Amino acid sequence: MKLTEHFTLEEFTRSITATRLKIDNHVPDDLMVNIHLTANKLESVREALAHPIIISSGYRCPALNNKVGGSQTSAHTKGLAVDFQCAYGNPKQICQRLIMAGVEFDKIIQEYNQWVHIEFSHTNQRRRVLTAVKQNGKTIYLPGLI
Ligand SMILES: [Zn+2]
Repeated sequence: MKLTEHFTLEEFTRSITATRLKIDNHVPDDLMVNIHLTANKLESVREALAHPIIISSGYRCPALNNKVGGSQTSAHTKGLAVDFQCAYGNPKQICQRLIMAGVEFDKIIQEYNQWVHIEFSHTNQRRRVLTAVKQNGKTIYLPGLI
């Protein structure tokens, strides 16, 4: 199902983990409003980067979120966050570009130099910027881009 010019619902729900564990990761009707918001905001992200963005994790139902070790309050479970990569550059370069271009987001996290987590809000986009790193096997979040 097409959501916007460049994004489909399938990109938000597909998950290797969900498929492997036979978890039904469909989006409940009441969360579709969030998915639409996220897809619309991602169009601005795509435009700023001038390259397609590859969503590695979008919506996660609670069962899937538990399996991948997501936080209980993860915006992924509300359809308001995606993890992505983009041929534009590495995660730090992508974050820098989004900040410079004035793209609206509530929070971006440069995660482990592997991907970018971006999340949105229906109200104010606070444009918070964090970097996730592993220290002694635990994830910690540092302010800004590192
Ligand atoms: Zn994420």
